[in-house]
Formats: sequence, C-alpha cells, structure tokens
Amino acid sequence: MKTLLAAFLASIAFIWGWHALYSNALPPGDTLWLIRQEGLYLTGLLSISLMSLVMLLATRPAWLETPLGGMDRVYRLHKWAGILAIGFAAMHWLLEMSSDLIKASIGKAGRPSKADFAGFTGSFLRDFAEDFGEWVIYAMLIMLVLTLWKRFPYKFWHWLHRGMPVLYLMLVFHTVVLTPSAYWSSPIGALLAILLIGGTSASIMSLSGRIGKRRKVQASIVAIGQPSSDVTQISCQIENGWAGHQPGQFAFVTFNRLEGAHPFTIASADRGDGRLVFQIKALGDYTHGLAHRLSIGQEISIEGPYGRFDFRRGSPRVRQVWVAGGIGITPFIAWLEFLQDKGALDMPETVLHYSTRDACTDPFVRQLEQLCAKLPHVQLRVHDSKQGNYLTAEILARQHPPGKQAEIWFCGPQGMLDTLKAGLTRIWNGKLKIHQEAFQMR
Ligand SMILES: Cc1cc2nc3c(=O)[nH]c(=O)nc-3n(C[C@H](O)[C@H](O)[C@H](O)COP(=O)(O)OP(=O)(O)OC[C@H]3O[C@@H](n4cnc5c(N)ncnc54)[C@H](O)[C@@H]3O)c2cc1C
Repeated sequence: MKTLLAAFLASIAFIWGWHALYSNALPPGDTLWLIRQEGLYLTGLLSISLMSLVMLLATRPAWLETPLGGMDRVYRLHKWAGILAIGFAAMHWLLEMSSDLIKASIGKAGRPSKADFAGFTGSFLRDFAEDFGEWVIYAMLIMLVLTLWKRFPYKFWHWLHRGMPVLYLMLVFHTVVLTPSAYWSSPIGALLAILLIGGTSASIMSLSGRIGKRRKVQASIVAIGQPSSDVTQISCQIENGWAGHQPGQFAFVTFNRLEGAHPFTIASADRGDGRLVFQIKALGDYTHGLAHRLSIGQEISIEGPYGRFDFRRGSPRVRQVWVAGGIGITPFIAWLEFLQDKGALDMPETVLHYSTRDACTDPFVRQLEQLCAKLPHVQLRVHDSKQGNYLTAEILARQHPPGKQAEIWFCGPQGMLDTLKAGLTRIWNGKLKIHQEAFQMR
C-alpha cells in the first residue's frame, strides 16, 4: 500500500516538475516568492489528486479487490490516501498564509504577478474559491481528528463522514477556479481533469446513494440464535440475485435503514441455495443486544460479497498457519465448511490456531472440532486464555520450526497480530508472509 501511494504521489510530482521546469511556467520573481508559489501549486495538486483517489476508492470498486488483495485493503488505502490528502491540504494552507511573513522579511517586490497565475475566472470568483478552500480545510482537519480519535462514536463519525463528497465538490470548485490557465493545455491539466471528473462522478454516486447498489439484494431472517451471551447467530435467506460467494468473503448487512450497513463475514460456505449465516459479536452499541432487535421473517438488505481472504490464494507448496482471535474465527468457519466435501484439495498441511478467552463457554470450539474432524490435513489447536494458554510467537515457532517458508492467515485483534508479527519476524528470520482480514475500516 505504501509503495502504491508513493508511486501515485511521485507520478503527480514528476508531471508537475516537468511542467514547472520545461514549459517555461515559472514566472520571473524572487526565489522565495517562487518557492512559495510553486509549493502552493504542488501541495494543492497532491492534495486534490489524493482526494480524487479517496472518492474513487469510496465507491467500493470490486475490480480493485484482486490487485489490492481485498476490500479491507481498498478501505485502508482510502483511509491513508485521505490522511495524506489532508496533510498536503494543511501544507497548502500554511503556504498560503506565509505571504505576510515573506512580505515582512523580503518585501513584495519579487512576488510573481497574480495575472501570470490566475485561473480563467474573474477576481470575485477567485476570492470566493479561496474562501471555500479555507473552510474545507478546517472541516477536513476536524474530520481527521475525529477519525484518529477512536473514542469518538463510530455512528456519529459515520454520519459526518457521509458529508465528505460535499467537501470534495467544494474543493473541485476551488481547484477549477484557481488552477493557472496554462495548466489546462499541458499534461498536468489533462491528468487533473481526469482525476476531477472521476472524483466528481464518485461524489455524485455517493450522494445519490448508488454505491454498491448493483451488489445489493433483499433477504429475510430465517433463524436467530444466541450461542453465547455476546454472540448472535443470524441465518438469512436471499430471495434472488445472489451470485454466490467464496469462503472468507464478507457482506454489508443492513438490519435497519436508519442504522445503515455493517460489514460481517459470511460465516458459512456457499451451497448455491441463497442461505447465509452471520456470527455477530457485541463489539459496540448497535451489535450489543442485537438479537432482541431482530425478528424471524424480518427483511434485511445484503450488499456483497466482497473480500479476498481465501486460503486458495496462497502458494500450494508453502505451509499454512491459520490464526484466529475471538470473533475473527468467522472466515475460517466458512473455509472449513467449504472444505468438508472437497477432500484434501491441493493444499499443504495446515494448522488452525484458535485463541479464545474461555474454551468452556466459547460458542465455536465444538463446531470447529466437528468441522476439523473430517479434514485430516487441518489440525485444530485451541488456545484457552482462561487456562493461561495464550498463543505467542514462541509457541507458533516451536510448532512450525523455521527454515521453510510459511504463510500466516490471520483474522483477529490488531494488537494480537502486531505482537505475533514482531516475534515471528525475529524467529523466522523474515521467511514470513501474512494475509490479514481486517475487521476495522476506520
Ligand atoms: C471485513 C469485516 C468483517 C467483519 N466480520 C465480522 C464478523 O463476522 N462478526 C463480527 O462480530 N464482527 C465483524 N466485523 C466487525 C463488525 O463490523 C463491527 O463489530 C460492527 O460493525 C460494530 O458495530 P457497532 O455499532 O455495534 O459498534 P460501534 O461501537 O459503533 O463500533 C465499533 C467498531 O466497529 C466498526 N464499525 C462499526 N460500524 C461500522 C460500519 N457500519 N462499517 C464498518 N465498520 C463499522 C468500527 O471500527 C468501530 O470502531 C467485521 C468488520 C469488517 C470490516
């Protein structure tokens, strides 16, 4: 992801640099004023380009799942591109504000004339566009703080976040009005136009509620269970239009239109009958007490499937280590169900490590034992925290000695992955590939 973002930024910067150096776009002026002016354009360009990318990624482009490795990664890219875009917007604003400081230190004499740089509109519109840009930067900085401040309730954050396309459209106006007219007849202008058109279409799609519409189907709840005090099991029947799913994929489920969609792994293999099972843990305010708010026969909407968390994407020759923490077991249940009638497939020996707080009250241990009993090539190891049996990098390393390459397929708390990763990178000496399904999108 870092490489992708770096390549994107480098390409924009390269085209800007080419324009600035070789097309005589630099006007005469004092160096400091020139640096400010070009810095203003570069940061603005990087910010709006990243923002356009953010808007495009927000449309849940399923075609990007294969190259990027799943919708959770598409969302991670969306998040980091957004953070960087706001960072560049803040730099852009600081550069804009620096004019008084430069004026005070070297005077106004070398300042490039506005006429050289102005876009193709009049001064009234320019002032208006500048004000728009400033308000948007303030709003985006507030949004950034709320995004990074994880204690801010997701529900409120989610509603505020839905206003981002409006801010983006205001930025498009700011950009179109203030981009120097010389840009529009050069490659940088062509690139900018493509990004702005793409971002604007994505914003309109978002504001008109069309994101994911083609992948949305209606279903009805056929069974509600409570296998443990904090887990709700929901079975639903899709009426029609479901093209099937791969084991390990997830869907956005809307139980209540006011609440909106929540992502949940489809914890069952596809049997071609439109029946899906979700195992939902009470991790927050909506999922808490969910079973009492649902009823048999209730209509729900399901958008998907999304995701590429599928062990068949791994190399068949490399040993696989599956690691699940708590409710992160759901994609593995779908995999095990899928494997039930498939024989050994062409897969290596695999160990599924399942970490649970208390194996005695855990709703999944029995099901996992039954599923694994029919699969000789998948061994189950349950790590029961209540008995002091924590899964550590040392335990993994002891059971899977270094030397041969290994692939880890992980779904569980981020902190657990970070600890295991740090330990295993050291012990396995870098011979480690990790596939993760992230349960976090914000
Ligand atoms: C790909 C994926 C698969 C998941 N699969 C499962 C599963 O099989 N079983 C399960 O119990 N949980 C799963 N989750 C987590 C589940 O989506 C959240 O626990 C649930 O949405 C929490 O909602 P809440 O309102 O109760 O919690 P809140 O207190 O509102 O939020 C808790 C956290 O849940 C996440 N979240 C909340 N609402 C949304 C939303 N609308 N969209 C995205 N994230 C949200 C946010 O990270 C938030 O910080 C999955 C998440 C993802 C991204």
